[in-house]
Amino acid sequence: MAKMIMIHFGELYTKGKNRRDFIRQLQNNINEVVGSFKVNIETKHDHIYLKNIKDNDMVEIVKRLQNVSGIHAISEVLAFPLDLEQVKNYLLELVLELRPKTFKVITKRKDKLFPMRSDEINRYVASHILKNAEIKVDVHAPELPMRLEIDATRILVVGKRYPGLGGYPLGSAGKGLVLLSGGIDSPVAAYLMIRRGIKIAAIHFAAPPYTSDEVLKKIEALAAKLNNYQPTIRLYIVPFTKLQLAIYENAPSGYAITLIRRMMLRISTVIAKRHGYKVLVTGDSLGQVSSQTLESLVVINEVTNYPIIRPLATFDKNEIIKIAKEIETYPISILPYEDCCTIFPVTNAVTSPKLDDVLAYEHSFDYESLISEAIGDTTKKDIKLDSHDDDLF
Ligand code: ATP
Ligand code: MG
Repeated sequence: MAKMIMIHFGELYTKGKNRRDFIRQLQNNINEVVGSFKVNIETKHDHIYLKNIKDNDMVEIVKRLQNVSGIHAISEVLAFPLDLEQVKNYLLELVLELRPKTFKVITKRKDKLFPMRSDEINRYVASHILKNAEIKVDVHAPELPMRLEIDATRILVVGKRYPGLGGYPLGSAGKGLVLLSGGIDSPVAAYLMIRRGIKIAAIHFAAPPYTSDEVLKKIEALAAKLNNYQPTIRLYIVPFTKLQLAIYENAPSGYAITLIRRMMLRISTVIAKRHGYKVLVTGDSLGQVSSQTLESLVVINEVTNYPIIRPLATFDKNEIIKIAKEIETYPISILPYEDCCTIFPVTNAVTSPKLDDVLAYEHSFDYESLISEAIGDTTKKDIKLDSHDDDLF
């Protein structure tokens, strides 16, 4: 008898002919998070099984699997050879040990070659237990449900079941580039994309020396939290200082945020096209701050025809904070830091910027060569699960 984990796919069932690719992708993603535990992965059309699990690793493996998108549920199972005698004896021992008042045997036969039908198996096992223990059958709400699954090579006794994250396997729906600030919202937006199967990379605009190295550590710490859901996250850091200073020189301060955001989108678009990210993602939420009124978003968006997803567009701040706490980015996000947009405090930010004015300010300096320079000096780094110390912060 061997201890295994059975992984249920859930939502994948709706995906028809893409199913095979999805399962392959899910298998790779599972391998990436549990590979270091030296388990064997067996993939069937309806489940993925993990075998050779050391007792000590079980808890950590289940915890990691619970963060893998595309997994609907995870069950601990015991695998027996095709020998019902062993199974019924094991279940009797379990009853004698746990002493439940009621039970029910529920068998699923995946391989119809097994010589007994499901209801025959149920009765056969149940009568052995009833004969040898003080217990009753309860078909509606059994205290100890005994789930058996029989395939061509083995009988599985299905044990404890844990909920999974749901959604689609990471990478099965393409790649996206998240504009990651040090705030509360953008890490949550990143997480919501990951759950939909979009593999993400992050881009951050830093304005040293006005923004400190602490900010970069903060961004890395946020990415490290997201590693729980995506084990490798590529992080692009764009040096933004020269562009930002040029903006403050050439536009009134009320328009600075609008111009800054437009430059961020221009640069992000180039990097996304160059590296095959199909969408840009931001943490914008409608109406939160002046740069996020509908008028502002439209003027900012005008620089690109690249698709932008704003997963938080309609969320209340409270809903966003709730998710940020669940994924543990919140305590990092609320640490004080200088965002590149807050280094020169703006008290009079316009809430409905005029596109003509914006274009006039932009034409007054050579932003294109500053953009090229910033892109040329952009650095990248992969933030990985298992390779960072957990207390970056
Ligand atoms: P957040 O909490 O994500 O910072 P916010 O409510 O503070 O959001 P803004 O500061 O207006 O909103 O930023 C809107 C979005 O622009 C952010 O969610 C993020 O996607 C992007 N953004 C802002 N600053 C940066 C930055 N320095 N680097 C990368 N992206 C940024
Ligand atoms: Mg912010």
